[in-house]
This record gives sequence, structure tokens and C-alpha cells, in this order.
Amino acid sequence: MVQSNHLTLLREGILKSIPPEAGVTRIDFEGPEIAVYVKNPAVLLSGGDVVKTVAKALRKRIVLRPDPAVRKDKEEAKKIVYELVPPEAGITNVYFDDVMGEMIIEAKKPGLVIGKNSSLLKQLLAYTFWRPVPVRTPPLKSRFVESVSTLFHKNSNYRLKMLKEAGRRIHRTPLYRIDNVRVTALGGFREVGRSSILVEAGEDKILLDCGAKPGARDYMGEFPAFWLDDFDIDSLSAVVITHAHLDHCGALPLLFKYGYRGPVYCSEPTKMLMALILKDYLDVAEKEGRTPIYGIREVKMALLHTIALNHGEVTDIAPGVKLTLHNAGHILGSSMVHLHIGEGLHNIVYTGDFKYGRTRLLEPATYVFPRLETLIMESTYGGPNDVMPSREETEAKLVEIINRTLSRGGKVLIPVLAVGRAQEIMLVLANAVEKKLIPSVPIYIEGMIQESTAIHTAYPESLAREVRDKILYEDVNPFLAENFVIMTKGRERLDVVEGEPCIIMATSGMLNAGPALEYFKLMAEDERNSLIFVSYQVEGTLGRTVQEGAKEVVVDYVDGKPLAVKVKMEVHTCEGFSGHSDRRQLLRFVERVTPKPHRIILCHGEDEKTASLASNIEKFYKVPVDAPSFLNSVRVR
Ligand SMILES: [Zn+2]
Repeated sequence: MVQSNHLTLLREGILKSIPPEAGVTRIDFEGPEIAVYVKNPAVLLSGGDVVKTVAKALRKRIVLRPDPAVRKDKEEAKKIVYELVPPEAGITNVYFDDVMGEMIIEAKKPGLVIGKNSSLLKQLLAYTFWRPVPVRTPPLKSRFVESVSTLFHKNSNYRLKMLKEAGRRIHRTPLYRIDNVRVTALGGFREVGRSSILVEAGEDKILLDCGAKPGARDYMGEFPAFWLDDFDIDSLSAVVITHAHLDHCGALPLLFKYGYRGPVYCSEPTKMLMALILKDYLDVAEKEGRTPIYGIREVKMALLHTIALNHGEVTDIAPGVKLTLHNAGHILGSSMVHLHIGEGLHNIVYTGDFKYGRTRLLEPATYVFPRLETLIMESTYGGPNDVMPSREETEAKLVEIINRTLSRGGKVLIPVLAVGRAQEIMLVLANAVEKKLIPSVPIYIEGMIQESTAIHTAYPESLAREVRDKILYEDVNPFLAENFVIMTKGRERLDVVEGEPCIIMATSGMLNAGPALEYFKLMAEDERNSLIFVSYQVEGTLGRTVQEGAKEVVVDYVDGKPLAVKVKMEVHTCEGFSGHSDRRQLLRFVERVTPKPHRIILCHGEDEKTASLASNIEKFYKVPVDAPSFLNSVRVR
């Protein structure tokens, strides 16, 4: 058997490099990682880090797991944790995963559990014979972080089985040498929505993003072309998700409904936000009386198959393909995808949605890669008129509108998207209050924003340097500024609207549903108030109608009769808070991306915008550009 030979060779290679005193009992392939089970982990930790050296030599990810037979009693292990970890770490919980042999340590400062050069982690492993996994206790309680952890914990047997299955496929001997690479547009080309790209490299097939297009006329338009002959779910090696917006991950549960049982790769924050956004998708469907095409079972299945990766971590995902995720600067956890195919044969970067510019929330997207031949890039704001005002101008405008409104006794309503834009605006407002640019008034927050913000506070390492440093080193969390008031049960909207001067942030961002619509109904007829849009208003939404200057709009139906309100409040739009690159930033990215790609493929944009950007890139940068349509394939190698 050729296949088992390759795995056997790898096992032998590892075995040979590890001192016999370590007492290796088993070597397992668990997803992209190789788990080495030993009786005496301490042997490997004294002196140089043997495991690290072996991993480097074999270019594989190796984890050390103590053999189940030697693990310390749990109570005893816990005692050791509290003895060794300094109290400043603020441990809030220690629990165990018997299947994976892991000891999860939740702490307010997980860095203090890790120690310098992981020294404390190594000690904990050597004394408890459990593999310590430090995680951050979110400063805001997050129902989702908790329920996803519970889901993983309860199903660790299933997960281990899945990881072993994936591991066997990843490390098998390739049957053929890869000699061609093809990219197929399954969705999200010359359109915005249902992003999905099939990359075929010899026998390895990778799906990049798996998005939906909510509001499409039918299922054929709502989901990627999974029905295509060339798309065979059983031969798919991996799915990679760039970020947790529905148009990039909304069809993932559908793939599991159709029988996919392989791994899904994304960043850890993306995994958590995906749980939030997919659950919300089902809740909204239920509220609107629709039966969605998949249910909570498939959402959970998709999450259980997710393998979270850190940015910059090189990972084998198929015999001939290595994956590395890089920061995309679009929303929390958003990633650019780098695929290294066939031992240097070809390198692809897929940007996903990206922001090549500074925001308060995130660092700008990465633009330097080890190697690059084909760049697949979004073109949302690729049109000639898609030039946004600078951040400074945009923030100054927001501050000016707020001050003018508050000084005449009015209140400000800002409809926001729960993930990303809401947190960006929170940071802008917190800064404005701190710098006394606006008066210190209550900022009421309602909708899914709070849950999303809690997830943001759980991953400060993924945020912009300034916010991260504030949270990690100064112990100041701008998301917890005292002006923010969470609308919980018992707080009435009418009291807020009739109370003292204030700012209100609520979902949805386009006024089509949710608390934002309820506030609008209460506030629209008072000319002292202001409404500020901070994100794109899709055609056909109430937000768009109001933005375009309608003086009277229907906001509801009571007993089948339309209920209208007069729009007397001031209506403003602050462009420039976008998480996307504008046209200038897209072109600047093409100019600076290193190394220079041989070919650019454009996706994620309306027809004319993609076409306009394509011709400009060709003209100015002399790189061949493809702008494929739905179902087109491009042979890139
Ligand atoms: Zn997006």
C-alpha cells in the first residue's frame, strides 16, 4: 500500500528523532497536526525543544500529548495549575477534555499562563501530564463563546474522529505530480454575494469561501453552483473561509447538508463570529416565517468541522497544498488566503474582502507574501467614482452632526451592522468623548451588537495595535467606556427617546428590521433629531428610501393597513467608515503587493466596477487581468 507507506515513513522519521526515554506510545495524524503521545513529556522539555526541532526538520506541525495512562488526577492537576500560575493571571476556570487530553485554563491574562518562551506551559505539561491550553476569559460575558466551547467539549470524540480522518487525507502520498492549477468561479464574480471559488490543483480540490446571497430571487441565485458537474463534494479536500459575513460563509451549512464532512479552515475569531451570524440568519428567517434551506444541526456540524488557524501559521491542508492565512483588515478575524501549491509550482493569494488602509478597529491588510503568482482580488469599490473621503474628514463630519443635534436638544440615531461597523463606530465615539470632541452623553446600544462586541473583546490580539495595547497593557477597554449603556430587558425605548440627550446605536444597519427600525418610528417626526447612516444602503431597503430623501415612508403594517411616518428628522450619510478598500486603496494595493503577481483575477464587484478596475490595472500596472463571469474557469498554471 503506497498510502500507508508515506504515513509510516513520517512516523518512523519522528520516532527516530525523539529520545527513547520520552516513551512514545502512539503517533497520530490529527487534522493538519501530528500528535505524538509520550509517557515522559518532561524528557523532551529539558534542554533544547526537541519537538520544535523535529517539526522544523520535517516541516510539519507536531504537538506533544501525554499518554492517557500517565495523566494526573484532575483535582491534583488543578491544584498544580493554581500553585504554578501567578495569581495576577486571574484564572477563572480550569476544565478538562479527556478525549484530547487537554486542560483548558481560562484566565483574564492568558499570557501569564504561557510564561516567557512558553516556559510555564512546559512546566504545567511536565507536572500534570495534561496538555495545557490557555484561553482568554472575555471581559464581557459572551453567550456564543461559551456555547461554542460547550459544543466542542461535548463532541470531542466526534471531533477527534474527524481530525484523524482529515489527517490521513492530508498526509497521504500524492498519486500524481501536480502539473496544472485551475480556478473556477462558483459564485461572487461580477456580482456581490455568494462568494465561492474552486481551486483545483491536480487531485487536490480546495473551496475558498462558501457564501450566500440573501434576498436573491431563488436558491439558484442565492447559493454557489454546487450543482456543477465539476464540483464533487466527496473529492473536496478542504474549505477555507475568509471571514464571517454571510456572503462568504452563509452557504457553509448547506455544504454539510449535501454531505461534506471534511475540514473547514479559518481564524479563531471568524469561527466565533460565524456561529453568531449563522445562528442569527436562522433566527431572522424564523421571525419572517421562512423555512431556511438548512437548520441548526448543519450549523453545528459546520462548526465542529472547523479548524482554527493563527495568521501566519503555515499548514498542510492537502498532500500538495499548504495554506497560510494573513490579516485582511476587513472585520475581526478576516483573512487573506495564501496557497502554496505543488512544492513551489504555483502560489495563489485570495484577498477575500480587505481594507488596505487604517481603521480604529483593525490593522491594514497584509501586502507582502513569501511567493505570489496569481492574485484573486475583490473589486467592490472598483468603480471610477468609488473614492471615499479620508477617515479624518469622515470622523470630523460625524462629530459635527452629533454636536449640532445635541445642542438643539435632539438625539442621534445610528443604524449599524452588528459585526465590524458597530465596533468601529463605538471606538470613534469613545475617542470623541475622551478627547471632549462631543459631550459626555449616554450612548445606548441595542441589538446583536453587544454579543458581537463581547467576541471582539475576547480577541484583543487581533485588533489594531492601539486598541490592543490599551486592553492588554493599560487595562483600559474602550468597548467598556462608561458612556455605553446596554439596552437590556426592562429598559424602555420610549424612555430613551423622551429622556436626556443621547446617541443610539442599533441594528439593523439598513433600517429594514430590528430595534433600529423601532427607534426610527419613535424619532422620525421630531425635527431636532438626526439619523446618520454609516454603511452602504442596499436598493429596496427602507434605509435607501430614507437616504434618498423620502418625506413620508411606510414603516409597518397594522391589520394589513400601511403605517406611515413623516421623516422630519435630519438625514445624513457618513461615507468613509467602510471595511472595504476604496478604488484608490485597491489600486495602491496592486502597486505595492510583493512580489508582483503574474496575473490578477478580479471578483466580488458589480459588473461595471469590476470591468473598470480591470482596465485600469492593465493600463497602469501592466499585469494581465481576468474578470471571469459566473461558472468560468481560468487555468492559472
Ligand atoms: Zn465582508
